[in-house]
Amino acid sequence: MNYRAIFLIISLVFIFTFGFFVYIRNRRSLINFWYTVFVSFLALWTFGLLMMYLSATAGSKLFWANFLYLVGSLIPSSFFCFSLIFPSDKALPIRKVGLIFLPNFILFILYFFTSLMIRKVVYENGIIKYFVYGPLHLLFDIQVVFFFGWAFWNLYRKYKVSAGRTKMQLRYILVATILGVVLAGTTNVAIPAFLYNCSLAWLGPSFTFPMFSIIAYAIVRYRLMDINVAVTRAGIFLIIYALILGFPLYVGYKTNSWIISTSLAIAFATVGPFVYRSLNRKAEEVLLVKQRRYQTILLKGAKGLMKEHRLDRLLKWIVRAVRKTVGIRYVALFLDDKKNQLFTLKTKEDNGEIPDDLVFSYQHPFIAYMRERKGPFLYEEIPEPIRHSLNIPFEVDIIIPSFIEDKYLGFIILGEKLNREFYSIDDLNVFKILAHQAGLAIENAQLYSELQNETKALKEAIKKLNETQNQLIQSEKMAAVGRLASGIAHELRNPLSIVLQGIEFLENNLVGLDNKSKKAIKSIKNSVDRADNIIIELLKFSGSSKLEFASLELCQLMKDTLSLVENRMHLGRISLVKNFPEKDMQIHADRNMLEQVFFNLYSNAIDAMSEGGQLELNVFPHRHDVVIEIIDTGKGIPTDILPDIFDPFFTTKDVGKGVGLGLSIVCLILERHNGTINVESKVNEGTRFIIKLPRKVENKKEEAIT
Ligand code: ADP
Repeated sequence: MNYRAIFLIISLVFIFTFGFFVYIRNRRSLINFWYTVFVSFLALWTFGLLMMYLSATAGSKLFWANFLYLVGSLIPSSFFCFSLIFPSDKALPIRKVGLIFLPNFILFILYFFTSLMIRKVVYENGIIKYFVYGPLHLLFDIQVVFFFGWAFWNLYRKYKVSAGRTKMQLRYILVATILGVVLAGTTNVAIPAFLYNCSLAWLGPSFTFPMFSIIAYAIVRYRLMDINVAVTRAGIFLIIYALILGFPLYVGYKTNSWIISTSLAIAFATVGPFVYRSLNRKAEEVLLVKQRRYQTILLKGAKGLMKEHRLDRLLKWIVRAVRKTVGIRYVALFLDDKKNQLFTLKTKEDNGEIPDDLVFSYQHPFIAYMRERKGPFLYEEIPEPIRHSLNIPFEVDIIIPSFIEDKYLGFIILGEKLNREFYSIDDLNVFKILAHQAGLAIENAQLYSELQNETKALKEAIKKLNETQNQLIQSEKMAAVGRLASGIAHELRNPLSIVLQGIEFLENNLVGLDNKSKKAIKSIKNSVDRADNIIIELLKFSGSSKLEFASLELCQLMKDTLSLVENRMHLGRISLVKNFPEKDMQIHADRNMLEQVFFNLYSNAIDAMSEGGQLELNVFPHRHDVVIEIIDTGKGIPTDILPDIFDPFFTTKDVGKGVGLGLSIVCLILERHNGTINVESKVNEGTRFIIKLPRKVENKKEEAIT
C-alpha cells in the first residue's frame, strides 16, 4: 500500500458518493440520472486504477488494465448522453442509447477476448511503468476524443443559444468538464499513448476534483440540478470515510501491523455512520435554515387559507405571503375565466414588470403544456418552442398550477429569489402543497360568493314576487269594489233623483213656507247633491268609462292641473318648487284621467300641510319611463297605515271631507296607463309619491336614458 493507492481510495469514495447523492436527490430527473451514470463510470475507472495498483500478478494487472480502458471508454459515452438531454431533460430513445454504447461493446470484446488492445503491463516494484499496446488501441483514443468532442460541441451549441441561468449552468459544466477531461486525458490517455508512460495515471481521478469543485461553485451560485445538498453530503461522507479508511491504513503502513490497522478500521467503521448522520443533519440545518423557515411559515399559512371567504382578499394574501416569506422578485396569480375561455391575471406583487392585462387563452400551447403537468415546474422545463411562444417581457422561474382533482383553477408564476438562490425540490414540494390548499380555498371562496349572489338574487326575486302579489291583490280588490260601486251607484241614482224631484216639487208648490222649512229643504237638497257627487266618484272608480289616449305634454298638464288648486295653496301658505326638464316629456295618456290623478295628489298634499309648507314637483326620465315625484312637507303617514292608503274607502279625514277614494282612483287610472305609484313617508316630515309612466318614444335613437 502506498500514497498513490490512498489517494485513489479517497478519490473513489468522493466520486462515488457524489454521484450517488446527485441521483437520489431527484430520481425523476434524467439530467441527474445521466450525470450520475457519468460520475459512476468515473468512480469505476478510479476503482480499476486502484485494483491495478493493488494486484500482485502480471495477469491480474493486465485484467484490471483492460477493465480500466473499457470503463474509460464508457465515460465519454455517458457524458455524451448527458450532453444530449441537458437542459431539456427529455428521455433518450433506447435505440439511440444502444447506438451510443455500441462502440463500448465492441471495445469490451476487443479488450477482454483479444490481445489487439493491450499486450502487456510493464511494472517495477508494483508501480506501473507503461503498457504495451496492440495494433487496434488507437480505436480507444478515437472513441474518447469523438464522444467527448461531440458532447462538448453539443453543449457549446446550446450555450450559444441559451440565456439566463441555463447559459450560466452550461458555461460551468463546459469549463469544469473540459478542465477535468484535458487534465485526466493528458495523464491517462495522451501520455500513456504517445510517451508509453503510465507513471502519472494515478493522478487522473484527482483531476476530477477541480471539475467537481467548479460544478459545486456553479451549484451554489446557479443551483445546478439542485445538488448543493448533495455536495455537502458527499463532502462529509468523504472526510469521514477518508479517516475511517485512510487513518488505519496510514497507521498500518507506519507500524507494519495489520492487526492494529484492521482493528482501527473496524472501530472507525462502526462509529462512522453515526458520526456521518449527526454531522450531516447539522450541516443541513445550517445550510437550509432559511429555506426551512419559510417553508414552515408557508405550510402553516396554507392551513389557514380556508378561513378566508372573500376571493380578492384570499388571492392577495397568497401572493403576498409567497413573495414576502420566500423573498421573490415578483409573484403573479392567474385564474380561470371560463366565460371568456382565458386565464387572466388576477393579483400580482411586482416592481412593475408584469403587464396588468396579461391573459392566456385556453388555446395557448403554454396552457396545454401546463394542463399536462400536475405539479409545480421550472420555466426551463418548458419545451423550447412553447417557451418561445410565451413571448413575455420578464423572466419566469417557477410555474405552480393549482388543481382540484381534474379541475384546473389557475396558476401562479414566480420570479427569481431576491438572494439569487435557486428553487429547490423541497421548495417545489412546499409550493405543491400550498397550491393544493390555495386551490381548495379559492374554490371555497368562489362557491361562497356564488352562494351569496344567488341568495341576493333570491331575495330580490322574493321582493319582486311580493310586490307583484300585492299589486295583484290590490287590483283584484279594486275590480271587486269597482263592480260593487257601479252596481250600487246605478241602484242609488234612481231613488236619489226621485228624492230630488220630490223636493223640488215641494219647494215650488208649497206656498207660505216658513224660513225653518226652507232651510230644511235646502239642507235636503245639499245632501242629495253630495250623495250624487259620491255616486259620480263611484262611477269613475268603477273604471267603466272609456279612455281616450292621446299624445300629451306631461309637465304642461301638471301645470294646468295646478291652476285648480292654486287658490287653496295660496290660502294655505304653501309654496311651490318645480323641477321640470327643459324639454317637456311626451306621454301617451287620457288627459282627463291624468288631470284627476294630479288633482287628487295635489289635494291630498295640500290637506296634509294644514300649517303651510312646500309642494315639490319633480319630473325626469329614467330608462323607458318618466318619473314624477310629488313631495310635500306635511304631517306624513304613520307606517302602520301606509299599506292601506290605496284601499278604496280608506280615509283618515273627517266625515264630509274625504271619501277615501282619491288614491284608489289614482291607482286605477295609472294601472290603465301601464304606470305604477309608490309612496315614502315620514311622520311630521312629509310624503313623497313616486309615479312611473311609460315615455312616448319620439324616435328610436333616444330610446333608453339611464
Ligand atoms: P281621501 O283623501 O278621501 O282621504 P285618499 O285615498 O286620497 O282619500 O287618501 C287616503 C288617505 O291617505 C288619506 O285619508 C290620508 O290619510 C292619506 N294621505 C294621502 N295623501 C297624503 C299626504 N300627501 N299626506 C298625508 N297623508 C296622506
